[in-house]
Amino acid sequence: MADSKEIKKCALITGGSRGIGRAVCIQLATDHDYHLLINYNSNKDAALETLKFVEEVGGSAEIIQFDVVDAEGVKATLSKWEDDNADAIVEVIVNNAGITKDGLFMWMKPEDWSDVINTSLNGFFNVTNHFIQKLLVNKYGRIINMVSVSGLKGTPGQTNYSAAKGAVIAATKALAQEIAKRNITVNAVAPGFIKTDMTRELNEKELKRMIPANRFGEAEEVAHVVSFLASKKSSYITGETININGGIYS
Ligand code: NAP
Repeated sequence: MADSKEIKKCALITGGSRGIGRAVCIQLATDHDYHLLINYNSNKDAALETLKFVEEVGGSAEIIQFDVVDAEGVKATLSKWEDDNADAIVEVIVNNAGITKDGLFMWMKPEDWSDVINTSLNGFFNVTNHFIQKLLVNKYGRIINMVSVSGLKGTPGQTNYSAAKGAVIAATKALAQEIAKRNITVNAVAPGFIKTDMTRELNEKELKRMIPANRFGEAEEVAHVVSFLASKKSSYITGETININGGIYS
């Protein structure tokens, strides 16, 4: 039985309602004792479904709605949650929420540029910055940022997305050096083509020819790496970006 005065240790997964974020929630619930905060933006039914899957593997979780882009909203929602959960600390942050708005740069609308940057890069800032002082006081933490092969190699048709993910990779490296002394690691994982709603429209048959593994990846294959990075076992890895791409680019 847990001591009622014990601090409730939590992990927040942004964009936990679907795809990779959902798989991360299920894997964290399987491998760890963290109480999970399953964030979603608009898809409550999908978030509730993730919650059900998490509970099926014996995990404890709740859903929490906020748009990572909305700095005020993030602050207000997370502050209220902290007020209501004074005995809790968010020790693991998985900045997973992300979108694509693909198109050639010459046709790219300003909002397609800013929406993508705002979600991945400002989302990382809004959520991580909210918790950082508490993590520093806690002297332990794990921050894991979902980036992409596009942020490393650049992908034509995805100048916005490549810029957003590349910036998060640079932020990962910088923040890691700032806070390593406090036992807080900051790492990124960079998936290639993973089967989710985001890649549903892509032609896997065509594209898999350029992937050495000859297939798209599964969200669970990303989730295992996130779960390792969220564990104490990864304590001497920080500022790192781990590729999960079937050999497409390393
Ligand atoms: P997905 O299936 O489209 O799911 C996106 C998730 O992000 C959903 O849970 C969505 O919430 C959430 N989200 C989007 N905008 C948000 C916002 N403003 N605030 C809060 N949550 C938001 O995508 P995915 O493939 O799982 O991608 C997850 C991450 O992996 C993204 O960062 C993506 O860039 C990255 N990634 C994916 C691939 C791939 O091949 N799939 C490859 C490389 C990197 P709702 O359900 O409420 O809409």
